[in-house]
Amino acid sequence: MHEPYDLVVENGVVVGSAGARAADVAVRGGKIVEIGGPFPAARERVDARGLHVLPGFWHCHCHFREPGHTHKEDFESGTRAAAAGGVTFCIDMTNNDPHPTTLETFEMKKELVAPKAHVDYALYGGGLYPRTVEDLAKAGAIGIKIFNTRHIKEVFPYISELGVIDHGILYELYEATHDVGLIAAVHHDDPEWVKRLTFRDYIDKGRTDYAAFVDSLKQGYMYGHGMTAGLSSSLYYAQLAGAHLHVLHLGIMAPGAFEMIRHAKFDLGQKVTTELELTSMIMSPEQAMEAGPRTCLIAHSPEAGWKSIGNGVADVLVLEHAPHAPDEIEPGWQDMFSVPLGLTGVQEFVAMVMDNVSRGRLTLQEAVRLCSETPARIYGMYPQKGVIQPGADADFTIVDLNREVVFADEDMHSRTGFTTWRGRHAKGSAVFTIVRGNVVMRDGKVVGEPGFGRFTPGVAAGRASLADARPDAIPA
Ligand SMILES: [Zn+2]
Repeated sequence: MHEPYDLVVENGVVVGSAGARAADVAVRGGKIVEIGGPFPAARERVDARGLHVLPGFWHCHCHFREPGHTHKEDFESGTRAAAAGGVTFCIDMTNNDPHPTTLETFEMKKELVAPKAHVDYALYGGGLYPRTVEDLAKAGAIGIKIFNTRHIKEVFPYISELGVIDHGILYELYEATHDVGLIAAVHHDDPEWVKRLTFRDYIDKGRTDYAAFVDSLKQGYMYGHGMTAGLSSSLYYAQLAGAHLHVLHLGIMAPGAFEMIRHAKFDLGQKVTTELELTSMIMSPEQAMEAGPRTCLIAHSPEAGWKSIGNGVADVLVLEHAPHAPDEIEPGWQDMFSVPLGLTGVQEFVAMVMDNVSRGRLTLQEAVRLCSETPARIYGMYPQKGVIQPGADADFTIVDLNREVVFADEDMHSRTGFTTWRGRHAKGSAVFTIVRGNVVMRDGKVVGEPGFGRFTPGVAAGRASLADARPDAIPA
């Protein structure tokens, strides 16, 4: 008889992107070693009777605010919220202070957050200086995040210095990401267009309250058309540079964006992937009016978002997590154009996805594809993560599709102390979060320790120096 397994997850239904079957999963040394069972000898057992065992869900759009804005969130509270909600892997964004746009600031952030993570994680490098992209890649950035945008009043978090508006710099960033083999993940915009029309129709007329803001979203000013116009030139430059363009915030773009991406992906064969924003598709203008400044995302066309899941335009699904402190956003009731846009999502994510499975808007297989398998593929981590098969990391999101939750401020781990989704019901939620064979959340209670979560470098880490590194113009 051989050594007992470290962990056996038994009696559950194991789900992949292509199907599901009743099976037990045996884990040793943090890895899945066997699927089938029964496996009698184990140090620890998780009974998944009546539950679905999914490959660990990724949340690819987290703003954990560290360093610089830890009064809103920090890496400990953010990843604790992730664990509580069923997320096993987080990718953190770059609008920090200092922002991780150079080797020095990226290394500083890595060091700072390492002792705090409850789940595995990766960090975007900040795309601002084409000549630092290679350094960021070698230091382990999972991709390069580019803010091709500015807030109309340059309110935090779109710190004006992080905005890449100059198409020459944008193009050189695409060249650089291509050279190092990382994705360029872009928040697109046409900020001058947005600014001009928003001032003309709202701010200059004294229409700044929350209702006016929601109206401007319906016009497609803040998001919608400006984003879509920004995408059109970006797609062209990315193709010219041979870059892998990862389009963020699909869902709040105008319907034309979906068609542009479909054309680029399937007619032209361009390397384009997308991140679909679920928040926007499930938040109606009426609900947005009720939630006020703790929300801010409504879709221009929710139907286009749902359709993109079926036709292959959407690759990754997120419920954006971009929290701000309540006193920073409350003035938004009077002047929403002067406060940062922020909302919570990392803890609510899995339940919101399961709720939409329960409602029949997407299948469990699609959820696995969008929230685990495809993210792992895009970021170069498949099949170490993103799948339940022997040899993969033992990351599991175990869900009860019948368990109802009602989101309440007091249940949130986020430092903001509120949830965008207060009072909202979801049918289906995570009951276990397991990272590399360790139970970090059981029945809603976080039982793991900060510092257990492991930094996961991107595919270009440690890669040899580029022979043809080109001298670059800029930066400002
Ligand atoms: Zn964001």
